[in-house]
Amino acid sequence: MLSVREAVQQMLDSIQPTAEIETVLISDAVDRILAQPIDSTVDIPSYDNSAMDGYALRADDLSEPGSTLTLVGQALAGHSFQGELKPGECIRIMTGAQVPASASTVIPQEDTEVLAGSPKQIRFQVNAKVGQNIRRQGEELKIGAAVFAVGHRFTPVDIGLLASLGIAEVAVKQQLTIALFSTGDELVQPGQPKRADQIYDSNRFVLHAMIERMGFNVLNLGLIPDNKQEIADAFMTASAKADAIVCSGGVSVGDADYTKQVIDELGAVGFWKVAMKPGKPFAFGKVNGTWFFGLPGNPVSATVTFQQLALPALRRLAGEREYKPMIITAEAGELLKKRPGRADFQRGILRCENGVNRVYSAGAQGSGMLSSLVHGNCLILLSQEQDSVQPGEQVSVEVLTAPIK
Ligand code: AMP
Ligand code: MG
Repeated sequence: MLSVREAVQQMLDSIQPTAEIETVLISDAVDRILAQPIDSTVDIPSYDNSAMDGYALRADDLSEPGSTLTLVGQALAGHSFQGELKPGECIRIMTGAQVPASASTVIPQEDTEVLAGSPKQIRFQVNAKVGQNIRRQGEELKIGAAVFAVGHRFTPVDIGLLASLGIAEVAVKQQLTIALFSTGDELVQPGQPKRADQIYDSNRFVLHAMIERMGFNVLNLGLIPDNKQEIADAFMTASAKADAIVCSGGVSVGDADYTKQVIDELGAVGFWKVAMKPGKPFAFGKVNGTWFFGLPGNPVSATVTFQQLALPALRRLAGEREYKPMIITAEAGELLKKRPGRADFQRGILRCENGVNRVYSAGAQGSGMLSSLVHGNCLILLSQEQDSVQPGEQVSVEVLTAPIK
């Protein structure tokens, strides 16, 4: 059996990112993968500007607190002061307004007092330091600086940074389309009546949402019965229309596990088994030139193998740079039962208690019990050779973020 790391590495080594590129508006770029590097073509900030509402002046005019200067003008955001400050003069300035070259500092309004008279006199209760409360041109980003590299996945704040650079459109990799289906004669579409020996299909709903959250399109092929021909047809349709295929169920060695049989006949299989729990049966390979990921049917197994195994591979196919999940260490808050042999991804609840990160089991760990993922906020990562974990021992924990949470 392959270890989880070997399985992921084998997939990453065999998959080449898609080549197609398209241009999209930045407002449509969240979760899209950048196809060309972006360097800054402007300085940010693009001019020296005030960080405060107050007064701009020459710092050497305020060598001691209590000095008084003559107010000669104002600078508002978007409306610069056009003149030049002479010794003994100041201007009113608002946050974001350009600081004139002749001023060297900004004093916040709270440290000043407006005196009567015309023109107005301003008394300053403080002395001044050069550069105070001024956001310097280029202090965040200079022209030519590398901003985003190829393979970057855009987040909402990235879009803000693109906007501040004045960029309206970006070149991104074309969105993947993932064909998705469930197999199993016992499965029924939610909303439909079912017999006592049937269950509702839940995997397709979890996986559909996870795939969409990754910014991929879903080609939903529905429920496929445990029938070799129908499963073969589903694979043919899927491979003709999609960039990758994700299906669940039928990949173990049961009598009705036709997915395995069909793939054995139609495709080139990379591997079948990974030493992980939940999981173990997991198929990776190619059908008709299209990558497929065959997930086990048990809902927790399907979800966790999708997240741990299929997603890194799909990210690579989409052209994304290698993704690093958020992994921290935490103290086991209770006994975590485990047997050596497979790497465990136990569903846990991570809490910070008096400054100590502690992790508890999220409840019964059955691979069919989706509630453990519903209640959990992390996966407790226990290595293949690891035995049970005693309370107080340190463990690695993967904090669940998108697309699971
Ligand atoms: P299989 O991998 O097909 O042997 O299925 C393993 C277990 O997962 C069985 O108990 C199935 O009933 C269940 N299962 C399979 N597919 C689904 C699904 N789409 N939704 C919920 N449970 C499923
Ligand atoms: Mg089945």
